[in-house]
Amino acid sequence: SITGYSESRYQELVELDKKHFLHPTSSIKQQQEKGPALIFTEGKGIYVKDIKGKSYLDGFSSLWNVNVGYGRTELGQAAMDQMEKLAFSSCFSTFSHEPAILLSAKIAELAPESLNTVFFTSGGSESNDTAFKLVRYYWMLKGQPEKKKIISRRRSYHGVAMGSTSATGLAAFRTFTNSPLPDFFQVDNFSIEALLELIETEGPDTIAAFISEPIQGTGGVILPPDNYFTQVREICDKHNILFIADEVITGFGRTGKNFGIEHFGVTPDIICFAKGVTSAYIPLGGLIISEQIHSDLKELSNGIFFHGYTYSGHPTSCAVGLKNLEIIEQENLVENARMMGEELLRGFQWLQKEHAIVGEVRGIGLMGAIELYKDKTTNERFESPIAPGLAAELLNNGLICRGVTYEGSDMLAFAPPLVINQEEIAKIIEIIDKVLLNFEQGLGR
Ligand code: PLP
Repeated sequence: SITGYSESRYQELVELDKKHFLHPTSSIKQQQEKGPALIFTEGKGIYVKDIKGKSYLDGFSSLWNVNVGYGRTELGQAAMDQMEKLAFSSCFSTFSHEPAILLSAKIAELAPESLNTVFFTSGGSESNDTAFKLVRYYWMLKGQPEKKKIISRRRSYHGVAMGSTSATGLAAFRTFTNSPLPDFFQVDNFSIEALLELIETEGPDTIAAFISEPIQGTGGVILPPDNYFTQVREICDKHNILFIADEVITGFGRTGKNFGIEHFGVTPDIICFAKGVTSAYIPLGGLIISEQIHSDLKELSNGIFFHGYTYSGHPTSCAVGLKNLEIIEQENLVENARMMGEELLRGFQWLQKEHAIVGEVRGIGLMGAIELYKDKTTNERFESPIAPGLAAELLNNGLICRGVTYEGSDMLAFAPPLVINQEEIAKIIEIIDKVLLNFEQGLGR
């Protein structure tokens, strides 16, 4: 039965989807053959419903971003109030408005102490591209225009604009793009030696910035080794290389701290953000720059910094962002993410004991993953990855998560909304347990 939708309306939507809607990051062939797997219609708290009335626990916050959960009327109200008052107003040149001013001040308050100035974009890819252009502008002003190379890491994901595609390490996102563009370089994920070697080969005087996610998300919730970022910070300082933290996923509480990089005791020169700033209720992204960069820009910049998106500082987006950050603060969601993250990890550890195919489990705040092996004692993987099939089976059982299979990996990744409670975490573990049991029985184990 289809709630509020007739079977024929459902079929009509499926056909229109196939004919007119080219989906982002999707298999075009599969869509043509099967149509959309699910058409979602509503959400409340950590649950979403599809057109047929079936309910799903969203263990991935859609795209790591619906952090305060679904159905928040306060956010809709904030958007409506702002739209009625001043729906849009450009921030180009010297024009400004209250929501952008207040949100930049609020973000500066939450960010590490020395980062206090905000540039707005419409999302994560634009934020990273802005960072790459800004660091080049910065070094140009500082009289070192040859400092323009950007270093990133092999398993990273930084988005899909041409700059952010070039920085993205996951090869799948670059195959048809003729990237990386000149002056983009990638080093092995956590290899300090590789970083030092590259800096030496290319010459520190040609390198503008190093970018990394504090915890790699799309690559599969990958935590850095102890001291990795301390060493990165030291190397960047020594060679006059700016350190950009891509906090598009980790920003605004996801990891149990305001920003993911805070776990590692270092401060970047630039933080890029998006997703969690509005909990996805409306598109918004941006970057926060250090006082050092800002003061150099103030002193050295003459004329115009020719870079701005039409929607840089969109008033409605900023008003929603302000309300969203207020909710996160009032409901203590950063602390909740920390505590529920520990609960989720305990659940994963229990699954690891119970299930032969569950190898390493890991997590920080509400980002977590479980690695799947044919034989976990030898880390032997299945001939073909089982994560996609398991993710589909979890979906059948009412749990949304992500199967990750990049570059030989086979894992399930989770990132539930920051409002999740203990019972809901238990529910996630219960569903995974059931699906894994079925799978193992199928293997005859
Ligand atoms: N950077 C990181 C770390 C991301 O995870 C993402 C998106 O998932 C992006 C950048 C790109 O953001 P957007 O999709 O908003 O352009």
